[in-house]
Amino acid sequence: MFHELGHAALERGHNNTLLPNGDYKTMMINGLLFGLYSKDTPEKRAYYLDELLDSSTPIPSWAFAKVNPTVIFNDSINSTDTNWEYSNTTNSTHSSEINSTIFSTPGSSLKISAKEPSAFSFWRYRFSPEGLNQGSRLTMEVSVRLENVTNDGISIAMRGDSDTDMVFFNTTQGTTTINGTSPFTTYTVETPYYVETVDTINLFLILAGNSTGTVYFDDIKITSYN
Ligand SMILES: [Zn+2]
Repeated sequence: MFHELGHAALERGHNNTLLPNGDYKTMMINGLLFGLYSKDTPEKRAYYLDELLDSSTPIPSWAFAKVNPTVIFNDSINSTDTNWEYSNTTNSTHSSEINSTIFSTPGSSLKISAKEPSAFSFWRYRFSPEGLNQGSRLTMEVSVRLENVTNDGISIAMRGDSDTDMVFFNTTQGTTTINGTSPFTTYTVETPYYVETVDTINLFLILAGNSTGTVYFDDIKITSYN
C-alpha cells in the first residue's frame, strides 16, 4: 500500500539501488516487497517510511557494510563430542559416527554414510546465541570431505527460531551443489541480517536422501560481522 502510494501521490518511480549492507535503499523497488521489513525489524520499517517521503534520508546505521568479524562458535569436533545430535528421517538407511581417523583438524569429524538411496539424515547442533547484535551478518563455515557422494549430495544450513516462529533459514541447498569426491574443502552459508528475537540457533549438516557415498564434516565456525 505504501509502495502504491509512492507512485500515485508522490510521483516516485521504481529504484532498485542497494544500501551498503545489501538491503534495498527504498521500498520503491521493482520486485517482491515482502520481507523488506517485518515485526522483527521495526528499525527497517521506520527507515523505509522516512525514505518514501524523503529520498535523501541518510543511510541508517543498520545498513552500513558489516565487515568487523567476531568468531562466536568454533568446533573442531573431538571423539567425546556430545553436543552434536544425529537424526535419521523416516525410512533413512544412512549411518553415522564420530570418526577419529579422518579429520581436517585433529582429532575427529562427523561422518554420514549412505549405501543406497533412501531419505535424508543430518547432524544438528543447538545453542542460545548471546551478545549478537540486531543487523549483524552471520556466516557459518564448514570443512567437508566427500567420497563418491552422488546426486544432491550434502548441504549446510543455519536456522534461527524465536519462542513461536522460525525467523530465518539459510542453506546451501538450491544454490551450491556439493557432491563428488574431494579433500576437505570449506563451504559457507550466510545469514545477512540477524534479528535479536531469535533465542535458538540450529546448525544442520545434511546428506540428501537421493545420495549415496560418505561425507566427513569438520571445523564448524560461525562468525558475526558488525
Ligand atoms: Zn511499483
